[in-house]
This record gives sequence, C-alpha cells and structure tokens, in this order.
Amino acid sequence: MSQKRDYYEVLGVGKDATADQIKKAYRRLALKYHPDKNPNSPEAVEAFKEASEAYEVLSDADKRARYDRFGHEGVRGSFSGGGFDWSDFHHFDDFGDIFGSLFGSLFGMGGSPFGGRTQRRGKARGRDLLHEVTITLEQAALGHEEEFSLTHREACDSCHGSGSRDGKPRTCPQCRGTGQMTVRSGIMIVSTTCDQCRGTGEIIENPCSSCSGSGLLPKRTKIKVKIPPGIQSGQRIQMRGQGDGAPRGGPRGDLYVQVNVAEHETFAREGEHIVLDLPVTISQAALGATLEIPTLEGKTEFKLPPGTQTHEVFKIKGKGMPILQSTHRGDMFVRVRVVTPKRLTERQRELLRELAEGDAETLAPESASLYEKGKDFLRNIFGG
Ligand SMILES: [Zn+2]
Ligand SMILES: [Zn+2]
Repeated sequence: MSQKRDYYEVLGVGKDATADQIKKAYRRLALKYHPDKNPNSPEAVEAFKEASEAYEVLSDADKRARYDRFGHEGVRGSFSGGGFDWSDFHHFDDFGDIFGSLFGSLFGMGGSPFGGRTQRRGKARGRDLLHEVTITLEQAALGHEEEFSLTHREACDSCHGSGSRDGKPRTCPQCRGTGQMTVRSGIMIVSTTCDQCRGTGEIIENPCSSCSGSGLLPKRTKIKVKIPPGIQSGQRIQMRGQGDGAPRGGPRGDLYVQVNVAEHETFAREGEHIVLDLPVTISQAALGATLEIPTLEGKTEFKLPPGTQTHEVFKIKGKGMPILQSTHRGDMFVRVRVVTPKRLTERQRELLRELAEGDAETLAPESASLYEKGKDFLRNIFGG
C-alpha cells in the first residue's frame, strides 16, 4: 500500500470543511506551488500535483463521501491505473486564473492543455457507469438482491475489440505506440496525448465494419447486485469491472449502483433508527393499553403505560435498521400522539362530562412544554 497522505491534511482543512473552504485551501496551495514562484523545484511540482489530487476528491461530494468512508481505497477507481494523473483532474476550468498562467503560457494554449480528455497511455480504460435502483425500507433493512438490465459497451466480436478489420492495427509512428508525446518547457516536462492516434498508440488502417473501428458495441446484459442490510439512501455500490469494456484489451470500467431507499408510509428513518408515529385514544393514553404495532419485521405487542402524554417517545431497542458492516441494529422510537375524538355518541359525551367534573380547575402551565420536550428528546438522539 502506498504511503499516501490524508487529503484533508494535504489541503490543511478539517474533516468538516465546507466546499468553499476546500476550494480556498486548494487555491492557496496552487498559488504557493506555482512554478513561477518555485523555479527548478520538482518538489513544488509534486506538491502541486498532490494538492490537485486531494482537491479532485474532496471537491466532489460523491468521491469525498467514499473517501471519508473507505479512505484512499474508496476513490482508487476514479483514477488512472497507476494512480492520480493530470488527465484525472477535472477542474482546469474552475481556476482559469491559476491554470491559465501555469499551463496556458507553457503550451501557448488557452484553458486546459489536455484538450478533450482523450484516452491516456495506450490501453484506455472502459467508462464507469452509474445505475440507480430504488428499494423499499424493508429491503434496505433486510438486505436485498436487485436484478436489472443495463446497456453497456462490450468489445466487438468481429474484431475482438481491436477496431481493425484484419485484427492488425499498426503501431502509431508519431508516438511509437506510447500514445503520449512529451513536451518540455523549462523545468516542466508534461505529457500530452498523441494527436495522431489519440492516445491509443495504434493506428487502424482498415476499420472493422461492425463497430466502425471503435472496437466496442452496445450490449444489453442482466446485472445482479447484492444490497447489504442497512444501506442508506443515495449510497453507491461499486461493482468492479462491470462498467464498459475497453477497446484493445484495456481494463474494464466499473459500475456504480446508486441505491435509493423509498420513503416509507409508516416509518420515518433517522440513520440507523426508525420512528413510528402512533395515534392513541384519550382512554388508552390515560388507562394504558396493550397495542399491536408494526415493526420492520411484522407486528409486535407494545405496552402503552397509563398516563402517557401526547408526543411522549418510547424506545424499543434493536428494532431499528441494521448498521452496515456491523451486527448491531438501531432502535425503534414510538412517538405517541393522543387523538382527541371529534365525533362522540351521547353516551361518550355523558361519560366525558362525568370525567370533567373531577378535573382540576386548570392544567398546570408546564403541560404546554410537553411538545417541546418531545422534540428535544428526538433532537438529543438524532442530533438534528
Ligand atoms: Zn469491430
Ligand atoms: Zn500516437
């Protein structure tokens, strides 16, 4: 494993840094390591690249989430085979003032020196693909296997992905098959993509008629993905090598399956916990009752204690969501709502009148704060 530095440390920001703070930190470092200010310093060039890699990850909400969760391993798939290189950097346009002078002047080009982000170093990698699936809360709780069809690009059968009719592409004479041209300017040596072969290192003289020389053809396949219990809505599962195939035998891209968890009609989810709103009658709240309530795994008995107030919350341990990569489970919270009846029979009205005779003149003012107490309770648990 490489001894990569923590990205937050590289940019000198906290783990909770906002997008704006991250951008500012990167900008500061980019200016600091600018070659104009650091002539003949390969260290500055390296430091600049390291900061750019950190910025590439932390400025992207999805990559940042994966990095926070899995560290460097979580974002490895976003980069070229040998790790981050400049063709993995997507922000040349965001920092025109920095990059414009840094690269633009070196190459006499406006904007990005890497043009249309063509294939890099010989064997190009297949594209990463994203597919979204929506599952129910129960499926998220129990784990689920989802099957779906997906159109991706596969190596063409006729030419075995070579793109060439006779299967014999010629080595590109300009770059001698490397796909890269090096340009030297002062201390900087920067590779650019060979324009003759567009980075593939090969030239096709007789394009395959099935795939018009691309080496790839669309193909529809069935994919099965195992969704682990406890997944949160919006999380993505990386399926290595299930993305697009690559022409000329390059490595396949990855497939990311984004799992959306649909809202449940009965339960609200708060991370690993679930909340059930339970309406009860005045008499149930006053006298207590044994009620049947739903859980994620079916019905269970719930003992409502006598004298329950509206918005009172009860915890049922271990009946919440499973926690990813853990044997623990969250809890279920039952939030009671006492429902005042609107339509009464004459007999019920009589009974309530009788009950009212025993009421104190007024209720103590503190009862007004009960609702707030309920909210505070939830806020303490969920940190909302
Ligand atoms: Zn073909
Ligand atoms: Zn070439």
